[in-house]
Amino acid sequence: MHHISFAQTTFTPSKIVCVGRNYVAHIQELGNEIPDDMVVFNKPNSAISSCLLAQIDGETLHYEGEIALLISAGEIAGVGFGLDLTRRELQSRLKAKGLPWERAKAFDGAALFSEFVPAPADLRTLSLRLTVNGELRQAGGVGLMIYPPAEILRELGSFTTLEDGDIVMTGTPAGVGAIRSQDRFRGALLDGDRELVSVSWQAQ
Ligand code: ZN
Repeated sequence: MHHISFAQTTFTPSKIVCVGRNYVAHIQELGNEIPDDMVVFNKPNSAISSCLLAQIDGETLHYEGEIALLISAGEIAGVGFGLDLTRRELQSRLKAKGLPWERAKAFDGAALFSEFVPAPADLRTLSLRLTVNGELRQAGGVGLMIYPPAEILRELGSFTTLEDGDIVMTGTPAGVGAIRSQDRFRGALLDGDRELVSVSWQAQ
């Protein structure tokens, strides 16, 4: 099992719960409809990795930078920067047939995280920035979300229990794209103008 360390405690996430289509501009860039209900899918613990892969099975992976929430005692204890890696071509084929997305979203290496830091009392000013090779690709935050964190937790609570150490990925703003080998990724989580945590990966 993969572990997350936070506040001198080691957590073993039982699942990563991901919200899809939470930013209007990203919904539009993929040509999707604004959903009537929150779109949710899971990644298993085995998806967690610290190695950023550019390809799997010959398919180029796409990155989605996301604000990640670490759950403890049913509450948002920590916040971090996460990458939700996606086999976009495969996902499009599965979507067209109305099939589940696990093959495109839940594979080994599909979830990467920064360290988690204590969640600020007010999450409304949280945002993320993702640069690739020094160029800004994604910027956005809670202010642009259709479902902000408290609403995500309320909605998830209506059908699933978030265990200690579970991670919620809150969706991606516009600017997703393909990963190329040797690309240098830098993700940062900010509270207003203040950087809370950052992480760097080089694509393999
Ligand atoms: Zn995502």
